[in-house]
Amino acid sequence: MSHAIVIGGGIVGLVTASVLSKKFDRVTVIDQDSMIGSDEPRTGVPHGQHLHVLLSRGFQILEDLFPGVSDELYRSGCPRVDWALDTLWENRFGSFPRYESKIKTWSMSRPFLESRIFLRVSQKKNIHFHQGVVTNLEILENRFVGVGIPKGGIEADYCVIAGGQNFSKRILKEFIQNEKEQNIRLTYRTALLEGVLKKEYKQRYYQIDPICEKYGGVLMPIEKNRYLMTLVEYGDPPRPKISFEEFKSLAEQVPNQAMADTLKHAVPVAPLSVYYKQKMHLRKFKLPLNLQIIGDTHVSLNPVFGQGMTLGLMHAAEINKQKIDPVVSKFERAAYFMGDLASRKHSSSVKSALDLYLRLCQRSKFFHYQFLKELHFL
Ligand SMILES: Cc1cc2nc3c(=O)[nH]c(=O)nc-3n(C[C@H](O)[C@H](O)[C@H](O)COP(=O)(O)OP(=O)(O)OC[C@H]3O[C@@H](n4cnc5c(N)ncnc54)[C@H](O)[C@@H]3O)c2cc1C
Repeated sequence: MSHAIVIGGGIVGLVTASVLSKKFDRVTVIDQDSMIGSDEPRTGVPHGQHLHVLLSRGFQILEDLFPGVSDELYRSGCPRVDWALDTLWENRFGSFPRYESKIKTWSMSRPFLESRIFLRVSQKKNIHFHQGVVTNLEILENRFVGVGIPKGGIEADYCVIAGGQNFSKRILKEFIQNEKEQNIRLTYRTALLEGVLKKEYKQRYYQIDPICEKYGGVLMPIEKNRYLMTLVEYGDPPRPKISFEEFKSLAEQVPNQAMADTLKHAVPVAPLSVYYKQKMHLRKFKLPLNLQIIGDTHVSLNPVFGQGMTLGLMHAAEINKQKIDPVVSKFERAAYFMGDLASRKHSSSVKSALDLYLRLCQRSKFFHYQFLKELHFL
């Protein structure tokens, strides 16, 4: 009986398990967290309370694997958002054009999305779940043969590591051929809100220029008529706790009153969350043929463009192939480059090119639509 192991039961791991269940007799998903599949924030994914968008390409992959999942999300109260028409996206030069586009996605909290995927995956009879921390990999004559867990081990013919950005570097060390790392020093502060008054947009972005602005922000509608608001700041690590009053005064500092405006009538319905992400990385591995490393363990991006989950799903959809498709690798490099551009000071020529591009996107639907397509990996 053929057996595959997936390490990590986050969004990428769950989707991977579903893809592998068509090829292997049995698939075991191992996660350290007892709460996988819950629609509540969980400790294994400490950034899960923060705003997470899934992009068009991500929905296409989900719909291919789990037909009807988008309708199900819609019926469960997740708003549908047109990224041009329903989105007020501003930066220091003004705002992007608003028009009806083909780029529409559903909007929800990350735990809710994970719970919907878990529901589908757990219905597959040959997928099993095991709670435990993977402590090592067993490799014999350049073949993966099993994983070590605290009270023993589990053998398998194939393994995919989808353990997220903080997966043990000690375990990965022998496989890393090349690693790019970039400091981003990014803080997310997020509030879960009720009572946000309806506006002429559904979601709003203020895209920060880290050189001359201190705070940016995003407001996003989610299930149950709630909203997530995230304030974004580059720089030193923050204090871990913050009150709603402090959050409101930081929101005042986002240009154009883009975030403060919404907070007038809103009430927080959970404690505020703070997350500091110091680095992003892009790794190249030299791996045995029956071992793959995907998702954030492979590439961890600057989250401001919301591309990590979608990229991870693109890896998962490719998992039956021996090598990740070069087109996916190209998207990966572009996403890494974009995240780097957004997070720090560059030479004046790079900066001028970037400013020109933002202005073009602002003035022309054509350029704006190309930007959206690039963003959504289409
Ligand atoms: C603040 C923030 C905001 C973000 N916003 C967005 C966004 O808007 N859109 C977007 O697409 N992406 C966003 N991302 C990126 C996104 O969160 C990641 O790309 C995504 O979580 C990667 O999924 P994953 O399944 O690879 O890893 P994770 O979701 O991190 O899951 C890893 C799983 O592995 C388990 N695990 C780890 N180590 C072990 C071990 N040794 N043994 C057993 N289990 C283990 C963990 O418990 C966890 O369940 C954001 C990231 C951050 C930090």
